[in-house]
Amino acid sequence: MAQRFILAQKYTEKYKDVLLPCEHCGNQNIVIASDRGIFDNKLYWSVCCSTTSCDCTGFHTSVVDAVKSWNEKQREI
Ligand SMILES: [Zn+2]
Repeated sequence: MAQRFILAQKYTEKYKDVLLPCEHCGNQNIVIASDRGIFDNKLYWSVCCSTTSCDCTGFHTSVVDAVKSWNEKQREI
């Protein structure tokens, strides 16, 4: 398994008590995911509701920013 998937799992575990439940569907199973930038080959982080096609933050260069962005988004609704 690629290193970034293992990292994403570790961060999901680390931030699971910090991440707010999804305001759209009430799901508490929120997942942190990583993607490799096509052009710059950097890691980008996003926080997603595990319900398919529900809610997701955009791509952030830091995990902390992705987590913050998710929580702010859930409070706005
Ligand atoms: Zn959801």
